[in-house]
Amino acid sequence: MSLPNHITPALITLLGAEQVLTEATDRLAYGYDNSREQALPDLVVFATRHEQVVGVVKLCHEHGIPLISRGRGTGTTGATVPVSGGVVLSLERMNRILRMAPEDRLMVVEPGVTNHAVQALAAEHGFFWPPDPTSGAVCTVGGNLAYNSAGPRAVKYGTPRENVLGLRAVTGSGEEIRTGVYTTKGVVGYDLTRLLIGSEGTLAVITEATLKLTPQAQSKRTLQAIYADMHSAAQAVSAIMAQPVVPCALEFIDHRAIEMVRAHSRAELPENAGALLMIEVDGPEAAMEEMVAAVSAAARNDGLLRLQAANSAAEVKALWATRQALSPALRNVAPKKINEDVVVPVSRIPELIDGLDRLGRQHDITIVNFGHAGNGNIHVNLLINPDDPAELARADACLAEVFALVLQLQGTLSGEHGVGLVKRDFVAQEIDAASLGLMRQVKTVFDPRGILNPGKTLPLEDTSRTV
Ligand SMILES: Cc1cc2nc3c(=O)[nH]c(=O)nc-3n(C[C@H](O)[C@H](O)[C@H](O)COP(=O)(O)OP(=O)(O)OC[C@H]3O[C@@H](n4cnc5c(N)ncnc54)[C@H](O)[C@@H]3O)c2cc1C
Repeated sequence: MSLPNHITPALITLLGAEQVLTEATDRLAYGYDNSREQALPDLVVFATRHEQVVGVVKLCHEHGIPLISRGRGTGTTGATVPVSGGVVLSLERMNRILRMAPEDRLMVVEPGVTNHAVQALAAEHGFFWPPDPTSGAVCTVGGNLAYNSAGPRAVKYGTPRENVLGLRAVTGSGEEIRTGVYTTKGVVGYDLTRLLIGSEGTLAVITEATLKLTPQAQSKRTLQAIYADMHSAAQAVSAIMAQPVVPCALEFIDHRAIEMVRAHSRAELPENAGALLMIEVDGPEAAMEEMVAAVSAAARNDGLLRLQAANSAAEVKALWATRQALSPALRNVAPKKINEDVVVPVSRIPELIDGLDRLGRQHDITIVNFGHAGNGNIHVNLLINPDDPAELARADACLAEVFALVLQLQGTLSGEHGVGLVKRDFVAQEIDAASLGLMRQVKTVFDPRGILNPGKTLPLEDTSRTV
């Protein structure tokens, strides 16, 4: 779309000329994320204060201009790609930490602060904020909340939905709202905080977040368990999750991932290794031995080939080296792979992995799986070259069957990467029509003109339209 003539001057007056990008070459960088999608925004603006966000939203609302909130664009599902044109509102310069309150175990931040900046300040006071995406050095808290992003720690400490007390936000009509509480308990009114978290910028622009902090554990131990086959590893995952010592990481890699690590690194793995678990437990130092013993007992079964516990920082590093060798190995083999992040109940992991093997053979696609096994959140990697149209077509067909399999196993399409653009057309397979109808009404209440991140998250009602 092209913007009405007076919009750019009005935004320059509101924000300052240095906060508005008009040149196509500058705008280009704000038109893509870590998916394969791309589109050119008509304008890119930066806000540094809440009041500016209100002004930008009101102007876009008045003129029906699409408005796409953006953190650092590291998302993998195209949620920041401006498919309908309009204005990209980057929050990356709105990055102050407004308040650190150790006595109340909370931190109040603006949305553009990076995850690692939050962790650094929290650590100075003996705390951490549990959400730990691997991209933490660059991604923003706003992006973390809008996608409900997480990492290995989620198995014990939860995702942003469990670790945010309240929000300040601006709805699609420019209304300013405060949601939630500053306390660790509270039940007054509907829970708008958790509604906005995970809404991918489609309901409101988040301008402030009150993060719930957790005290750092005194001690941590790392274990690695290698199994002859994935069924034994999955049995161990269920056993570990069913005893009282909840691990703070329970990561899994499958037989193909092990083959890749073996081929592309010096990691020493038993010849017949069929699956590997990385397990971490944290807690009081005095309880560590007992905790490690309990988790080790649960990890043992007939398929266990090797169980090692690290006794020094160097040994911890050596055990994690296997898992860390995987990402570079995958990048070498298939730099443009498709990476999904499906979730199934922990007990269904074996059926998922068996099914993925079958689909890979059926569609002639190599599929490598790893992920956060304690949550049943498996990263399914289709190793393809998307520049080969035949392979891409086979991958698309395979992916549709992967999603069908996941739903058949009572799983969900995404655990942390979100829906955005790329999974939007599969959502109606997971969510029933009545619930989708309610969600569309909620969208209309928050954003009556549909300007906030149009074409994302919810399936299109009129399928003849593409965005
Ligand atoms: C190398 C790499 C590793 C990754 N590892 C992980 C991982 O371990 N776990 C994981 O979950 N993800 C991971 N990701 C994905 C990504 O980093 C996360 O989704 C992250 O939270 C996105 O943050 P961002 O600031 O880049 O947000 P963006 O990509 O800019 O935006 C993401 C979504 O948030 C919305 N948004 C942004 N700011 C606001 C706001 N203030 N108000 C309302 N909506 C807003 C956008 O509209 C969009 O819908 C990884 C990505 C990369 C490239």
